Amino acid sequence: MSLLVVGSVALDSVKTSFGEVSEVLGGAAVYSSVAASIFTQVNLVGVVGDDFPKEYIEYLQGRGIDTKGLKVTKGKTFRWKGLYEENLNEAITLETQLNVFASFDPELPQGYKDIKYVFLANIDPTLQLKVLRQIKKPKLVALDTMNYWINHKKDALLEIIKEIDVMVVNEAEVKQLSKEDNINKAMERIMAYGLKCLVVKKGEYGVVALHQEGFFFLPAFPLKEVKDPTGAGDTFAGGFMGYLSSQDEISFHCLKEAIAYGTALASFNVEDFSLERLRLVKREEVLERVKSLKNMVKFKDN
Ligand code: AMP
Repeated sequence: MSLLVVGSVALDSVKTSFGEVSEVLGGAAVYSSVAASIFTQVNLVGVVGDDFPKEYIEYLQGRGIDTKGLKVTKGKTFRWKGLYEENLNEAITLETQLNVFASFDPELPQGYKDIKYVFLANIDPTLQLKVLRQIKKPKLVALDTMNYWINHKKDALLEIIKEIDVMVVNEAEVKQLSKEDNINKAMERIMAYGLKCLVVKKGEYGVVALHQEGFFFLPAFPLKEVKDPTGAGDTFAGGFMGYLSSQDEISFHCLKEAIAYGTALASFNVEDFSLERLRLVKREEVLERVKSLKNMVKFKDN
């Protein structure tokens, strides 16, 4: 099964204690698509300006990602500037320039409308909704968002949450969105919108998921060095959705496996800036980290 991904395609400028990069390949949809492409065929929907380097598009195509849905238009590409201080779990946004995304009106290529697995990566929720409404009969729809959209487009966000199956967000966002400080109550409140599963990312502490059948916890893969956390959440979600679409099964068991695959992939991504590490990751390396994660949480009940 193939996967549709819509979200930001960006030029990122990022500073961490390991250094800084300026206007490099980034964006929620890029990290997600690249991660998912390890497991499945990806169809990317988004927009870039005429300043977006051609070699970035060629790189995505080289990974088998279908870019018919990636529009190149006159103007400037979306730009994000972020900084990480001691707390690597939290990006401090210095600047968000929507640029060509501000007027993007997505129209899906014909073939995309029958896609069954959809990942609405981080971008304006009104855009996410416009894309979702064009899909005929999706089997599984997941959505990510961030504080920027909770602050600017909360109503649209709450509207779309009612139409999706899985939401992937970080801990601060789920509390902000639900206006609830207790994480368990916050998760219950968001689940009540009708989700099958809510996956909450807790950075270096891993992931907690609430499913209709119960809770699931998985730690992050323990790393001794994190150079740049940018895109960790998107890589996680891309790996998660890529794995699910490759299995074409959405049981709780399969969702747990998908969480392990997303976690393993995200751990590679943070080892370097931009997509420098992620682009080199081999399927076997991911499987190895999934195996270690499973071993880390396994214990006897007697
Ligand atoms: P993550 O570290 O996984 O939360 O996501 C980082 C990516 O999100 C960066 O590559 C940014 O380009 C992108 N990003 C930052 N702010 C926004 C926003 N408001 N909407 C969509 N994408 C964004």
